[in-house]
Formats: sequence, structure tokens, C-alpha cells
Amino acid sequence: ALERTFSPWRLGALELPHRVITGSMHTGLETLDDGGAALSAYFAERIEGGAALIITGGLAVNAEGSGADDFSRLGDEASDARFAAAAAAVHAAGGLIAAQLFHAGRYALLDGVTDAQGRRVHPVAPSPLPWRAAGAEVPVELDEAGILRTIDDFGRAAARAVDLGFDAVEIMASEGYLINQFCSPVTNQRDDEWGGSAERRRRFAVEVLRAVRRAVGFDVPIIVRMSGADLVPGSSTQDDTDALARALVLAGADALNVGIGWHESSVPTVQAAVPHGVWLRYAEAVARAISLPVSMPAEAATSLADPAAAGRPTDPGALPLTAVPVIASNRLTDLRDAEDVLAGGLITAVALARPFLADAAIVDRSRDGHFDAVNSCIGCNQACLDRSFVKKPVSCLVNPRAGTETRYPLVLTRAPAAFAVVGGGPAGLVAAADLAERGHRVTLFEADARLGGQFTLAARIPTKEDYALTVAHYAARLESLGARIELGHEATADELAGFAGVVVATGVRPRTIDVPGWELPTVLSYERAILEGVPEGRVAIIGGGGIGVDTAKFLVLSHDPAERAREFEQRFALPAPSTWLEGDDLPQRTRVRERRGRHAAESAGMAPRPGRDVTVLRRSGKFGAGMGITSRWVALGELRDAGVQFASDLEYERITPEGVEIVLGDGARQLVPADVVIVCAGQVSHDPLSSQLAARGIRHETVGGALDATRVDAVRATRQGIDASRAL
Ligand code: SF4
Repeated sequence: ALERTFSPWRLGALELPHRVITGSMHTGLETLDDGGAALSAYFAERIEGGAALIITGGLAVNAEGSGADDFSRLGDEASDARFAAAAAAVHAAGGLIAAQLFHAGRYALLDGVTDAQGRRVHPVAPSPLPWRAAGAEVPVELDEAGILRTIDDFGRAAARAVDLGFDAVEIMASEGYLINQFCSPVTNQRDDEWGGSAERRRRFAVEVLRAVRRAVGFDVPIIVRMSGADLVPGSSTQDDTDALARALVLAGADALNVGIGWHESSVPTVQAAVPHGVWLRYAEAVARAISLPVSMPAEAATSLADPAAAGRPTDPGALPLTAVPVIASNRLTDLRDAEDVLAGGLITAVALARPFLADAAIVDRSRDGHFDAVNSCIGCNQACLDRSFVKKPVSCLVNPRAGTETRYPLVLTRAPAAFAVVGGGPAGLVAAADLAERGHRVTLFEADARLGGQFTLAARIPTKEDYALTVAHYAARLESLGARIELGHEATADELAGFAGVVVATGVRPRTIDVPGWELPTVLSYERAILEGVPEGRVAIIGGGGIGVDTAKFLVLSHDPAERAREFEQRFALPAPSTWLEGDDLPQRTRVRERRGRHAAESAGMAPRPGRDVTVLRRSGKFGAGMGITSRWVALGELRDAGVQFASDLEYERITPEGVEIVLGDGARQLVPADVVIVCAGQVSHDPLSSQLAARGIRHETVGGALDATRVDAVRATRQGIDASRAL
């Protein structure tokens, strides 16, 4: 029983039934020209699954504050109509919705964005300092009038949000956006009343909050999403962060939601490589900062007090600071972890974003104790953040219905039939679950002794252990839906003849290479290496795409998540908050890690860390090509830091017992010494059935790697799984 998680709490004037908030996420559905139908269906399904309060993706408070041309702006007629519809849908489903008030500042990529008069707009910022991103402009430095106008825009947007039916607002002051830019000495180099000291730098945040409060009154809660740590060299100190938290409470924030890192930070914050629960310390530090007695100088406190904040004392020098709820977010995916976090007593609620993409009913399933049935976010980013960065609507690798609820309605069939799915990898599992969910009788044949396909391999890669949760979820879901699962059974065309339709999801096999010496006993396929382990010694990996990178991770990273978590903290020299006390708030984080450790040991098999000499070879092209934009740099950094060598622009001459002989671009020959050579040269489709089924006239759909192995793409595979289910 998750007693704390499922206990009510107050957010300003609202009472919420449990402590899990659906955190802000840009979905790309916001600007679809459908009257808000897709967004409404997406939100409503989450409320029906137990969510209580949804925070929208960022809604720009003015044109220049838009993140890009696929952002919505409060006050834009068409956009407002969509959000009014979405708010109504949330209310009809019995939930609440908060608008996130957003201004991108120098992060705005405004090519093609115009204001209400049709004029091209340009990014603005406290100082004219661009960030390093393709298409980033040097922002216009806001003058005094511009600052006051922007503060007014926050207030106006908040009032508009209330008019549209929103129940609360969240001010986005984290992740390196405009308000965070004002707070940081890295991006605010002014020497006027809005910069020059930490106190003056945070003035903008405080004034925005006051303007929003004036606009919405006291019946509408205001959450401020503030940065717990910027993770950018030279940025705000922990003292600055503590002081900002206090100033926000004094100025009337109803809750502080603690974010982490900037988009330009070199520390990964949301990838699978980031240990679960690692950012909790910063949320706990904020909670401590606002629980401690106010020690700021009376003079500073006076400048922060808001006499307009009716009901609050107007003599801030004597003000005992009243703690408001602190919300923790990022790298929390399991409500058992949330329960542990809440048990620490400092954190009032947690905000989860991607886990709600992965499973609309994560709250209800967890409330009922059906943790295996939760479709967990695996932190891959492949269908969510990676798509968001290229302005595509987000979805989810493990739940391809996410964001497409109107395209794939869950309606029971009027004509139940018997369908077969051949192959229990991700595409087959999704197809089988979708067929069974809609009332069909499903038999899933898997030639292997267990379900999972490529996910079985993936779950053995350090940082990807959570892939096993996807397999566990689908196995539990299929069982509860009454599907028959035939393991160790290679289905034949003859036995499939009796089914109304067949989904062929037989996957891929490793591609072999035509290099002399390939048949030596020292040469392994990646599949064999990952499933059976690799003998001690130097290793050369032939092939530097995603599989080559994963195989190198398998060899050089620790297979113990708790050890990796310690290494992560050392590698990135994570600053320890001054108010973070090692002794008393450590237990809940340790439990989070231990749970992950146990899970990894059970599902993926612990392996000793070999500490190897590994070289990854690639004929041409980028290492990790095909990996997602948010994950590739993290994985390559892990490998470089672990001492892995890389060599490219070469030809393979031959493999010998001494290693791999290569010819470099300048014609020079070289031996890459290796005791073991692992071939990661891609895959080929394994489809023994489609042509036979076609010859017999059996209805079938071929999906995933069985259809196309040129670039194995799990997002495409699971999408094809649901498409096949609907096509049969
Ligand atoms: Fe999580 Fe991956 Fe789904 Fe994104 S695509 S929500 S990271 S499982």
C-alpha cells in the first residue's frame, strides 16, 4: 500500500487526492489543427487512469517567448480554443489542469514565428548572449520597458488561462528558460536593477510571480518550477538557489516544483544513463531551505516582500517562513520510489511526465498494487524527447497509442476472432496486447524460451535494465487479457491456417561479415556476446552503430546500478547542496537504488565488470549513428570516459587470432590487437513465414525487423505492431 502517495494534500486553494502530478511536457499535439481533439483525448485518458492534476506543456506568454513555431501562445485565438476544449475534457473526466506559463528567452528558435500583427519576432534575454544550438540567434537584450512588458505578459497570460478554464498555473522558471536566465550570472550580465547581484537577478522571478498572483487572485494556485541546480559552470550557487526559493515563498508561491539542469548542460539529466532518484537531493535541499528560519538581511527581505500579497504579513523582517509544498521531479518512474521519496518527509508530491506517456493508468495500476502491470517509462527518449526536438508530435516506444488516442480508440470489437502473433519481441507484444485488449482471442508464438526478442538483449546492457520492465508489463497484460502464450514454439504456416489473421513479428538475426577470418572461434556475434558473455582479454568491435555502442557499454560499464549511480555522481562532480544532510535523508534514495539493483540482478543477470581494453571500429560514418539525439552523446561520453578507443574511415583486411587487420584511409595497414572480436554489423530480417502465408492465402501483416532490418527502429516496430492489429 502506498499510503503517503495516496493521501490527499493541499495545493493552495485546491485539494488533491494523491501526490502524483502529471508534469509538464511539450507533446506537439498543442498546435494540431483539430480543435484540440487529440490533446483532449490524450489528457482525458490520463485522468481516467487516475491522474488528478495535469500540467500542460509550456504555453508561451508572448510571441517572442515561444520555444519555436510549434508552440502555443496564450491569447492566440485558435490556440486558446484548443486549450479551452482540453480543459473542459479534463474536467469532464473528473480532473484538474494547470497551464504552464512559459517564456523561452534566449532558447527561443523563432524562425517563422510572428506576433499578432504578423511581424517576425526575435528572442529576448537579460543579456545578448546566444546559446549553442543550430538556428539560435543572438537575443535582444531586454531594456527596462521590455522587462516590465514581459512581466505584464506573464500576468495577462495567467488571467487568460483562468478564463479558459484552467484550475492552476505553473510558472516555468527552470531548465534554462527566461526566468532562469535572469537568475543566473552566466546569462544575466546586467548591472542595473535586474542584475549585478544574486538578489537583483532573482527580482525578475519575484516580479513575475507577483504579477501572476495579481492576475489570478488567491483561489488559483501558483506553482513555480524553479531550478534545483543549473548544472552549468559558473551559474547560481546553492545559496542563490536557497534564497530564490525563500523569495518565491515570500512572494506567494503555493508550491515549488524543482527542476534540474539546462538544455545546454553537459550533465545528462533525463536519459536512461541517469540513475533513478539522483536529483532528489536538490528538491530536498529546496524543501530544507524554505523550512529553515529566515536569515536574510531585513533590508533584502523588505525588497522581496509583496505588500500586495493580501493575508500575508507585511513586515518581512519578522516573517517566520511558512513552508509550502515542494514537488520533486525527473528520473522518477515507479510510484514505489515516489512512496520512498515522500516518506523522507521533505517532499510533498512528485511530478512525473514521461511515465504518463508510457502508461496512462500508472496511478490506478499502482494504487491497486499491480506494479508488474505498469508499462514503465524506460528512459529511451526515442519517441518522446527525440521527436519533440525535431518538432514531431511525441508518442512512446512502449505505448504507441500515446498521443494517438483518437487514431487508435480502445473499443471492443463486435466480431471477436482468433488471431496469431508470431514473435514475442516489442512489435509482437504490442500487436498481441492491442488485439486482446479489443476483445479478440490471441495466441502468441515465441520460438525462444522467453518473451522479449531484442528487448531481452537490450535489458542486459547497463543503463537499459528497465527494458525488462516492458517485457514484464506485456507478459502480465497478456495474461490478464487471457491471451495464450506458446513459448519455445516455432509456428509453422500450416498451424497458422486456422487463424483469422496473423501478425508476423519474427524479428532479426545478426548480420555476418565477409571478412577473411570471420569463422575463427574468437569471433562472436553481438547476440552471442551479450547472451553468453565475453572471455577476458582485449576486444575489438566491428561496427560502431547503435549495437556496437551498446555492446561496448556491456563490456565496460558496471552492471550494478548502485555502483553506476556512485560513478555518475563522481564523473559529473555533482554539487552537494549545503542543506543536504548525508545521514538523515539518504535512506529513501538508497532504497530507490536498491530496488533497481534487485531488479537488474533478477531480470538481466549480474555480470562482473571486466575492465577491458575495447576498440570500436567503423568503416565510415558517425559512431552511434541512428541513436536518438538525446542519448547518443551520453552513451559516447560514457564509453570515452571508460577508456574505449574508436577508429573509423578504414577497411577490414582480415581477422586473425591476434586481432583485426585494418587499412586506414591513407593506405597504412594496422593491427588492432584483440583476443575477441565481436561483430556488430547490423541485422538481417528473419521472416520464414510471410511468403508461405501469402501462398496459402492467409491474412497476415509483417512488422518490425521481420519487415525491414535496414535500420532496426524499436519505435517504428511498436508502431507497426499496433497498425497491424488494427489492419487485420
Ligand atoms: Fe519513456 Fe521512451 Fe516512452 Fe519516452 S519513448 S516516454 S522515454 S519509454
